[in-house]
Amino acid sequence: MSVNQGIKPITTEINEQGHLCIGGCDLVELAEKYDTPLYIYDEDTIRSMCHEYKKAFAKYEKSNFMFASKAFMTKALCAILKEEGFGLDTVSGGEMYTAYSAGFDMSHVLLNGNNKSIDELEMALDYNIGRYSVDNFLELALLDNLAKSKNKVVDIFLRITPGIECHTHEYIQTGHLDSKFGFDLTQLDEAIDLIKEQYNNLNLVGLHAHIGSQIFETQVYYDEVGVILKEIRRIKEVHNIHLEEINLGGGLGITYTEADMPPSVETIADVIIRSIDVHCKEYNLEHPTIYLEPGRSIVGTAGVTIYTIGSSKQVPKGRRYVAVDGGMADNPRPSMYQAKYTAVIANKANEECDEEVTIAGRYCESGDILIRDIKLPHPEEGDILCVFNTGAYGYSMSSNYNRTLRPAAVLVKNAQSDIIIKRETYEDLVSDDEIPQRLSSNIMIES
Ligand SMILES: *Cc1c(COP(=O)(O)O)cnc(C)c1O
Repeated sequence: MSVNQGIKPITTEINEQGHLCIGGCDLVELAEKYDTPLYIYDEDTIRSMCHEYKKAFAKYEKSNFMFASKAFMTKALCAILKEEGFGLDTVSGGEMYTAYSAGFDMSHVLLNGNNKSIDELEMALDYNIGRYSVDNFLELALLDNLAKSKNKVVDIFLRITPGIECHTHEYIQTGHLDSKFGFDLTQLDEAIDLIKEQYNNLNLVGLHAHIGSQIFETQVYYDEVGVILKEIRRIKEVHNIHLEEINLGGGLGITYTEADMPPSVETIADVIIRSIDVHCKEYNLEHPTIYLEPGRSIVGTAGVTIYTIGSSKQVPKGRRYVAVDGGMADNPRPSMYQAKYTAVIANKANEECDEEVTIAGRYCESGDILIRDIKLPHPEEGDILCVFNTGAYGYSMSSNYNRTLRPAAVLVKNAQSDIIIKRETYEDLVSDDEIPQRLSSNIMIES
């Protein structure tokens, strides 16, 4: 079974006290040591998933893996990915800066995004990142201009909208025609003419597409490869340019609940490689170098969040709401995408799940519900709730809503736990606040 086909991190077990353990660490002890809410990442699960990608694509020599940093980005993760031989797909100055400060090899960094700023493009040029995925006409002009001013020639992909619909949430579909991302196929010729004739500081190496996220189908990847290779053949005929690289984006799904049935990495690899074989033969093309940008599938299953259970409310003849000390600010996915999760009580891991409750967050929004109608072993104040599969798009989408503090994150391995992101403090919260001079005479400022 692939890591993404299981709900829990691969090192999950229950110890003699009936407590849930991950990476050899008792979650109840982690809650005491680091406080809650707490993000916990299992290093073995992250590495296993990296190995799965490398193994599944080992038969295709020219494969590159660029972890999609937007799923979760922090310096410790950069260090792990560097050891695993992964590159990084970034979408902002902040993500590039994190990679740079972690000592990441910037030639293995790619920059994506539908509205990159001039500052971000300049930063990318100064860091000498390896690839740009250019999204639109404005960016072509800007990047060429900036590269020229710095005397550089940069390797670019053109991001295209392949016109493939996958059955995932509307907000995370990206490959369909009516999308804000990338060039429509009908606009490619104009873009390529501009690169050939005017933009001498851009070197077009390939095409990039990303069809969506939390994908369970395999056919969409087969079709995506087909659309891209057909376009590459057409470009060869029309423009006499042979593009040697294709970037297929990310999107492989993970198992949030038993209802989710994502394919294994191996299955996806076989489909992609078969489609390349079939279409290269059909179009008489050489096998391209491929790039993949997995995000969720690398870190999603590896991460869990633990919370402490506080108040609860029994609606007369209705639901029992059980509130935890976190919610939509540390995990906005349930309120944003109606995302579903599973959870257990870490200190009652062996007990029977005999009570149906709804897990409410602590934020001032009725929509702040983490899990609806889940069976748990009689949840009570002080219990430690462990929500699975929060490793991707949890911390990275977190906020300070209600002026709460972003939780800490720890990395666990072989019964050792290390802080990889410190818990925010109240001082951190106000550290960027300023009171204009004309207002400050009215209030007492304690020093
Ligand atoms: C979000 C994104 C990814 C990663 O998607 P996952 O579903 O997390 O694997 C990869 N490439 C691009 C361009 C993206 O926007």
